[in-house]
Amino acid sequence: MTDLTQLGVKDIRDGVRAGDFTAREVATSFNAAVADAAALNAFIVTTPDHALAAADAVDAARAAGEQLGAMAGVPIGMKDLFATNGVQTTAASHILEGFTPRYESTVSQKLWDAGAGMLGKLNLDQFAMGSSNETSYFGNVSSPWRKDGSNQPMSPGGSSGGSSSAVAARIAPAATGTDTGGSIRQPAAFTGICGIKPTYGRCSRWGVVAFASSLDQAGPMARSVEDCAIMLGAMAGFDPKDATSLQMDVPDWEAALNSDLRGKKVGIPREYRMEGTDQAILDSWEQGKAWLKDAGAEIVDVSLPHTKYALPAYYIIAPAEASSNLARYDGVRYGLRDLPDGSGLQDMYAATRAAGFGDEVKRRILIGTYVLSAGFYDAYYTQAQKVRALVARDFERAFEQCDVILAPTTPTASFPLGSMNEDPLTMYLNDVFAVPASLAGLPAMSVPATINEHGLPLGLQLVGRPFDEQGVLNAGLAIQQRAGFTAKPEKWW
Ligand code: GLN
Repeated sequence: MTDLTQLGVKDIRDGVRAGDFTAREVATSFNAAVADAAALNAFIVTTPDHALAAADAVDAARAAGEQLGAMAGVPIGMKDLFATNGVQTTAASHILEGFTPRYESTVSQKLWDAGAGMLGKLNLDQFAMGSSNETSYFGNVSSPWRKDGSNQPMSPGGSSGGSSSAVAARIAPAATGTDTGGSIRQPAAFTGICGIKPTYGRCSRWGVVAFASSLDQAGPMARSVEDCAIMLGAMAGFDPKDATSLQMDVPDWEAALNSDLRGKKVGIPREYRMEGTDQAILDSWEQGKAWLKDAGAEIVDVSLPHTKYALPAYYIIAPAEASSNLARYDGVRYGLRDLPDGSGLQDMYAATRAAGFGDEVKRRILIGTYVLSAGFYDAYYTQAQKVRALVARDFERAFEQCDVILAPTTPTASFPLGSMNEDPLTMYLNDVFAVPASLAGLPAMSVPATINEHGLPLGLQLVGRPFDEQGVLNAGLAIQQRAGFTAKPEKWW
């Protein structure tokens, strides 16, 4: 029998429907693969019983001749930023350790309703702040990839690094991610998988631990464009519980997949040619243009003049929102409570927050509080909001000349764990190509393109007009078909 853990979402769904194997067989195989991969540290908790129960429900529904959902029989990993009823939800922080929600996030509920099951809660950067998965309270996540001839542990990217590591290692066919400023796309690029951040508002944020609410978006991470289209369809949709949720129908992205790009224009933003970008990445960008041309698209140069201000603006806006969102962790309502002997309420707040938040989270809270303070609000926060509007306007203008934008996802390939910790600013540069689309709320996807000279994956990024996930997926499919990316990490875990 085929090794079921090598299959992706579509193949599992179709195989279960056709009766080639049962959902229980699939869940059992992945549960075993997860149990065997503790060395990756991709999961904070595993939930094999959840996966089995969902699988049994699917097998019973099939036996009863019922219609099966879009994700029927597919066991997935759930980023530990989504509240899951009865299952610890930590955002990889100490402050939420032991917090067991009594409700389910809208996105995870939709996935269960579509027939998916849960293998476990995936590790991440603490409160989704980071680009390497080294800020988790529960330890670093290792990428399954290693440089040729080396056994140095490599970063799976972040913040959705548990998700990228698990999907690349084939211990999960797909996983949820969230992207505030690149956290789906950068880890996808680092690990040779696909990930799409939809238009802001497509996926409900209800029940997702908040980082920067005007930027946070959920999305799927999987090994093919088709799998992302299927899973995004199951995750998206209007939710009255999220005030910024889009009141729009969810298109059938899978059915409309089409890699024939004749009549489409692909924009190449000149400002994305930045110093410090690896030559192999610039080469793969050239290759990407050639692939899209081959698919029938016309390649045009476009300009996004405010690109260089996007990252600084993001690192004002995101921490500002984070400082406000994280004020709720006070030792009263959730998780950790540190109440030193004989101390008062203020002492409890201070002690709980000092013990419960990691350094990177504290850094963001400090920056955010500073830029929102009365004396500096206009100089930083108001300015950053203006820059955000200009970045969004750049894209509007560019999309008068093209239908989709092609760019690198990241300036470099994955790096060894521990190698970037000295200077937080260098770490922030990882998202220089990802952040502009986040500020503008646009759909954006990373698709694996090639392997660099060290044997590490590189991704290409596609950015689309608002609500045009289809255009992004279609261009992604055209790249996927031509890249023929079949490289897999060699198992060492
Ligand atoms: N790496 C970026 C940050 O640290 C983006 C994180 C994210 O998208 N959640 O803020």
